[in-house]
Amino acid sequence: MEKLTDNIKLLSNGKYRLPYCNCLLIEDDINCLIDSSPTDDEFVHLEGIKIDLIVNSHSHTDHNSRNNAFPGSRILLHPAEHSRAASGEEYLRAYGFDLFNVEDVRPLYLAAVKYAARPVDGEITDGQKISTGSVEFQVVHLPGHTYGHCGFLFPKEGFIFTADMHPDVLAQYAMLDSSVDDFIDSIKKLINLKPETIIAGHGKAIIKDDILPKLSAGIDEFYRRDEQILDRIRAGKHTVQEIADDGITFKGNFPQPRSIYWLHECIMDLKHLEHLERMGEVGCEEGKYYIK
Ligand SMILES: [Zn+2]
Repeated sequence: MEKLTDNIKLLSNGKYRLPYCNCLLIEDDINCLIDSSPTDDEFVHLEGIKIDLIVNSHSHTDHNSRNNAFPGSRILLHPAEHSRAASGEEYLRAYGFDLFNVEDVRPLYLAAVKYAARPVDGEITDGQKISTGSVEFQVVHLPGHTYGHCGFLFPKEGFIFTADMHPDVLAQYAMLDSSVDDFIDSIKKLINLKPETIIAGHGKAIIKDDILPKLSAGIDEFYRRDEQILDRIRAGKHTVQEIADDGITFKGNFPQPRSIYWLHECIMDLKHLEHLERMGEVGCEEGKYYIK
């Protein structure tokens, strides 16, 4: 844990372990947690603190799995994420489990990622200002990774918490409401904010160097993957499953268990195919994609 300002502490900085994330603790008139999944050794710093408010960047379990540790707190989340925060079946559906055959991992998945259902108490929307007393931050809707994914801008303190938009690592976009177009637009939105400091949700949290070139490189990576998908279609692979077998986004090496990462690859490749369809570069007939 490290102190960022008199009121704000950063938990889990530098620990890239799933399903955990970097979180912010605001100790103020209202005690507020931004994302609730610090690592076990950092969670001890929250003991004895009455958390009044939890604002989750999105509903992935590595950002909200400890919401239930604070039963008296009010939970705020973008409305696109509400149903899957409250229902495990909805969480699985949103991850595409009903579209592709991964029945071997389906019964194990929710427990493995520490899914814990918790109904949400209220919504956050783009531009909304949230005050905890002396601290005020602003919601910045940054869809793409998931549709309801949000960052939080702290103008006075001079940083933005970007959750799963990390300048060094292109996050997955493996949910049915993920979108390559939205993700690119969100990166551009972040670039336009000209942040001097980003607090990212995983790994080394505080990023000050080369933010804009790193974000631009993230956009380039999407177009590079588009090209790789087009190459696969030219090579005779026409279904999402056939293309996913090559594991483009995992650089050919699926982590274990393979089937869950293959599912993520299927959805991410589907997102590129949707992006390429919108650009008029590919068409689709009965599940088979072709170059236009
Ligand atoms: Zn996420």
